[in-house]
Amino acid sequence: MRPTLLIALYIGLTFLPLVLAWAGARPPRSFWDELATGAGLLAFAIILVEFVLSGRFRSISARIGMDVTMRFHQLFARTALVLAAIHPFLYRAPFSPQHPWDTTRQLTLTFDLSHLWTGIVAWVLLIAFVLMSIARDRLGYKYETWRVMHGAGAVLIAGLILHHTLSAGRYSQDPVLAYVWIALFAISAASLVYVYVLEPLMQKARPWTVSSVRPIGLKTWELSLEPLGHKGVTYDAGQFVWLNVGNSAFSMHENPFSISSAPASGNTLQFVIKELGDFTRTVGAIRPGTRAYIDGPHGNLTVRDRAEPGIALIAGGVGIAPLLGIMRQLHRDGDTRPTLLVYGNRAEEQIVYGDELEALARDHGTKVVHALSEPPDGWQGRVGMVDAGLIRQLLASEDMQQWLFVLCGPAAMMAAVENALIAAGIPAGRILSERFDYD
Ligand SMILES: Cc1cc2nc3c(=O)[nH]c(=O)nc-3n(C[C@H](O)[C@H](O)[C@H](O)COP(=O)(O)OP(=O)(O)OC[C@H]3O[C@@H](n4cnc5c(N)ncnc54)[C@H](O)[C@@H]3O)c2cc1C
Repeated sequence: MRPTLLIALYIGLTFLPLVLAWAGARPPRSFWDELATGAGLLAFAIILVEFVLSGRFRSISARIGMDVTMRFHQLFARTALVLAAIHPFLYRAPFSPQHPWDTTRQLTLTFDLSHLWTGIVAWVLLIAFVLMSIARDRLGYKYETWRVMHGAGAVLIAGLILHHTLSAGRYSQDPVLAYVWIALFAISAASLVYVYVLEPLMQKARPWTVSSVRPIGLKTWELSLEPLGHKGVTYDAGQFVWLNVGNSAFSMHENPFSISSAPASGNTLQFVIKELGDFTRTVGAIRPGTRAYIDGPHGNLTVRDRAEPGIALIAGGVGIAPLLGIMRQLHRDGDTRPTLLVYGNRAEEQIVYGDELEALARDHGTKVVHALSEPPDGWQGRVGMVDAGLIRQLLASEDMQQWLFVLCGPAAMMAAVENALIAAGIPAGRILSERFDYD
């Protein structure tokens, strides 16, 4: 699906209830009452569509990328929160006298708690839910615990709002709107069934086995997987998968990792994994033969079909993983375009595949530039952080204006380089990036 179609679909779905409510023939009501209801309707539609913006749907994340999907998810969650938060306070009708002729409550509101309680509970929970999501890192939950809480909380809130929407207010009486709400709710619930039941079932039918695990740098491992009884997965160099090693296919213990191998190198999938937390610190102890499952490929950090005359790959630390896949694939394809790799690390021991990068420089002509922020004595490469200044030194200005830029690394490096490239007039469409953490 094209990104423009996705955006049109998003707008269509989120505004559908609002348009249906507006199109129905009803007695006129005060502007503020209509605005209050409109805010509520839009907030609920946004919340329901959030379920499919969870980053687990390839038709979305492979088109617009994981970063953009998650940024939309976060932005729209905050938008829904604001709309939902103001929704009850905009009404004027509660303060107007009850009209005796308004027997169907078209013009006045009810304070009957049997109609309102689900809305009130959902309102309180939604505020807590979004604030907890924003503060996830600081709350210290294990990622898996947080994920279960996030999914279950979202369903609970959506169910409460559904009850409120179908039982309170004048639009709750509209049968067409009721069907639309139930259909949107069913799509959201189905998206969870797909992610937590159907997708694991499909993974179970296509298991993988760990073929090797070896250290390749400071606290960094190479993990390889072979398909078990199937042909593997079709992917583009630079994409990533959710990897589940040694657990049931239905387990919550799965983490996103970029594929560092090239599709042209066969069925084996390789990953570069840096120790960070619960799972990554145990990678070194994984035995060959351990069963694994993957959900993917996801993401759009890919240079396939890109026609730019040169490619600059800018990596920080373990951000080298997807860029390795891309370089390996370009080399195997015999792509003759000039390539530049800028690879930043803190210490020399963190550099992975140093020999292979030298070979790529020799055989493929890739210009490989290492930068270390804490170099050892006698270091021959660049010193300091990877930033816009370094990129400008390395690329002629006409190359800057024409090449494709592919970035992956720590948030600070990505922000500095991306902002500088945009400031230098490089259109966003010529900058591809993947973040390894989205708050
Ligand atoms: C698209 C993408 C590609 C990545 N590629 C690589 C790679 O090639 N090599 C590499 O070393 N690291 C990569 N990462 C980062 C890697 O996923 C985390 O370092 C890893 O999940 C940490 O898990 P943990 O259990 O060791 O640590 P934890 O302490 O459990 O997690 C640390 C942080 O990692 C993130 N995280 C953990 N689990 C998940 C999950 N299931 N989904 C999303 N985020 C999660 C969260 O932000 C969490 O706060 C990638 C991340 C993303 C989003």
